[in-house]
Amino acid sequence: MTDINQRVALVTGAAQGIGAAVAEQLAANNFAVVVNHHSDSSREAAVRLADRLATTYGVLTMAVQCDVADFEAVKQMVAQVKDELGRIDVLVNNAGITRDGLLMRMKEDQFEAVIDTNLGGAFNCMRHVVPLMAKQRYGRIVNVSSVVGIYGNAGQVNYSASKAGIIGMTKSAAKELGSRNITVNAVAPGFIETAMTQALDDKAAEALTGRIAAGRLGQPQDVANAVAFLASEQASYVTGQVLGVDGGISL
Ligand code: NAP
Repeated sequence: MTDINQRVALVTGAAQGIGAAVAEQLAANNFAVVVNHHSDSSREAAVRLADRLATTYGVLTMAVQCDVADFEAVKQMVAQVKDELGRIDVLVNNAGITRDGLLMRMKEDQFEAVIDTNLGGAFNCMRHVVPLMAKQRYGRIVNVSSVVGIYGNAGQVNYSASKAGIIGMTKSAAKELGSRNITVNAVAPGFIETAMTQALDDKAAEALTGRIAAGRLGQPQDVANAVAFLASEQASYVTGQVLGVDGGISL
C-alpha cells in the first residue's frame, strides 16, 4: 500500500553505508524515499535498495542517479522528484568522499574534489530544494558533517574543511529559514564502520575503540537514528544544531 500524501525524503549518496541506513530508517518511519546515487557502479545497489524499501515498508521510493557536485544536475533531480512524488519534506545531505593526504603533498584537485562534493553538493541540494520547502512552509534539512570538521584530523585538511563548512552553512541556513518552518541541523558522526573507513586495520581499530566512551565503533544505524529524529515533525524546535554521533570520542 502506498499513500500519495506521504512525506517525501531525499537522501543523497544513499546506495550504501550511512546513506542506505538513513534511507531505510526513514522508510520505516513511513517516508517516501528518494535514493540518490552517483556512480554507474552503484546504480544496481540503489535500485535494489529502493525496491526493497518499497516492498518492506509499503512506501513510495525512487532511485535517482545524480552527481550532487553538479548544480544543473541537482536542479534536474529535484524537478524529477517534484514531478514524480509531488514534494520534498526532508533533505539529508549525506553524499561525501575523502581524498586524504598530508597538506604538504596535497594536490589542488584532491582539495577541490572534496570541497565540491561534500560542501558544494550540500549547497546545491539545499539551493534547489529550499524553494519547494518554502512553498510548502515545511522542511527538515539534515547535513552530515563529521567530528573531523570540529576537531580536525591530520591528513584531512580538505575533508575537515568541507565538514567544518557544512556546520557554518547549517547555522546560517537555519537562521534564514526558521521563520518558514524549515529546520536545518547537522550530525557529526565519529568513526562509523562503512566502506569509507574500511582501511583501518585491527590494531588501529582497537586503539581507536579505547578512545571511545561507548567502547565500540559506530554503525550506520547509529547515525540513521539521530538523522531520523532531526527529520521528524517532533524536532520542530531544534534548528542550527550539530548533534555528535560519536560514542563519546569527542569527550
Ligand atoms: P560511503 O560508504 O563511501 O558512502 C558515500 C556515498 O556517497 C556513496 O554511496 C557515494 O555514491 C556517495 N557519493 C559520493 N560522491 C557523490 C556525488 N558526487 N553525488 C552523489 N553521491 C555521491 O561512506 P559513508 O561512511 O556511508 O559516508 C556517508 C557520509 O557520512 C559522508 O558524508 C561522510 O563524509 C560522512 N561521515 C562518515 C563517517 C564514517 O566514519 N564513515 C564519519 C563522519 C562522517 P557513489 O558510490 O554512487 O559515488
